[in-house]
Amino acid sequence: MVENWAGNVTFGASAFHRPASVAQLQEIVAGSDHLRVLGTGHSFNRIADTTGDLVSVADLPPVLEIAASGVRVSAGTRYGELMAPLHAAGLALHNTGSLPHISVAGACSTGTHGSGDAHGVLATAVSAVELVGADGELRTVRRGDPVFPGSVVALGAAGVVTALTLDVQPTFDVRQTVVEGLRGFENVEEALAAAYSVSLFTYWDGNGFEQVWLKQRADVPPLPAGWLGTTPADGPRHMVRGGDPAHCTPQLGTAGPWFERLPHFRLAFTPSSGDELQSEYLVPRATIGDALRELDGIRERIAPVLLVGEIRTIAADDLWLSPAQGRDSAAIHFTWVSDAARVEPVVAEVEAVLEPFTARPHWGKVFTTSPERVHALWEHLPEAAKALSAGDPGGKFRNALLDRYL
Ligand SMILES: Cc1cc2nc3c(=O)[nH]c(=O)nc-3n(C[C@H](O)[C@H](O)[C@H](O)COP(=O)(O)OP(=O)(O)OC[C@H]3O[C@@H](n4cnc5c(N)ncnc54)[C@H](O)[C@@H]3O)c2cc1C
Repeated sequence: MVENWAGNVTFGASAFHRPASVAQLQEIVAGSDHLRVLGTGHSFNRIADTTGDLVSVADLPPVLEIAASGVRVSAGTRYGELMAPLHAAGLALHNTGSLPHISVAGACSTGTHGSGDAHGVLATAVSAVELVGADGELRTVRRGDPVFPGSVVALGAAGVVTALTLDVQPTFDVRQTVVEGLRGFENVEEALAAAYSVSLFTYWDGNGFEQVWLKQRADVPPLPAGWLGTTPADGPRHMVRGGDPAHCTPQLGTAGPWFERLPHFRLAFTPSSGDELQSEYLVPRATIGDALRELDGIRERIAPVLLVGEIRTIAADDLWLSPAQGRDSAAIHFTWVSDAARVEPVVAEVEAVLEPFTARPHWGKVFTTSPERVHALWEHLPEAAKALSAGDPGGKFRNALLDRYL
């Protein structure tokens, strides 16, 4: 029995495979009618599920080819395994998600993002993707190819990714500082723009943002004391009440390498609470203040089933199924208690409030948005669905969730 990280999904696969070579993987794909790939299983819905063959690429021979022009990495590599060698070679990625535990292919497939006004989803760093198609053939799709915009954030429907090439930049140091007590929603956009990467944390209990995590490049001056009426935290913090700060990356303004500050969580520790569900919605960035004010109207519904809420920003991109496609975005995230029966009605209420803000759900988290609504939200979805069907006419890489939404 294979489960996702959160334990809320038991996969319905009839067989689980861990091929040790690309040739073996090609044989499995060619011989299968229905097949999905499981990354590190950190998604909260049935996006990776199948009734057929479930495949892990974690045992494929590792690839890590580092060059100033980009890094070629095996698909199952976790970001936490990639980042230190990159830094040692004098290089960096543009951003990371909150946790280094997720696989590169799995994260890019769902449009996983970090924070920062100038930074696109992690998949925007991908310049080439190598994948085994429905016919069992291995091919490479490069930036500039006509179907490239539908081949990276592809929800696992473009084929089994074996390796990716990612853009890199010179390494840099980051200072992480947590400040407390950002009140009201007036200064949200200014706060989100104040550093390389910013996360605003709230418990939706009427007190504004209890914690603001500022990840500043070390080569820019620190923010002035008392910035936007906040107070520096007097020690390291975990954003979940009662959480152990030892699980989190170093704070208190000490400078250190990008990969030890941009994620919130450390690879050797459980990220977040470990016992939770998550949902997230991306709205056009300019509407974030209004969207939060509207959500504040139902905070008495949200707070009782919430562990913590987080607001981040993401730059627009041109990947067809990316949640930030075509618009600079702000993401409204909810870490819920792990009680689906109590959480799902509140998720539906949040979606109803956010509907006028054209909120796009995160593909890897809990959402109840209707297929009609999803089609209206992603203008390039028809192109993406057409390209994915052309590459997989028999629907080998489809599952119930993709049949519903694509
Ligand atoms: C504690 C926690 C914190 C999180 N923080 C963030 C965050 O900061 N930002 C954010 O955006 N999201 C976040 N997420 C969500 C997470 O990043 C996404 O769900 C991500 O897709 C998980 O990657 P994974 O490797 O576990 O993929 P999985 O969940 O295993 O799979 C996701 C999708 O990718 C496909 N896939 C995986 N590998 C391959 C492959 N080799 N070839 C083809 N398809 C493949 C699967 O079929 C599936 O459709 C968080 C999740 C958790 C549990």
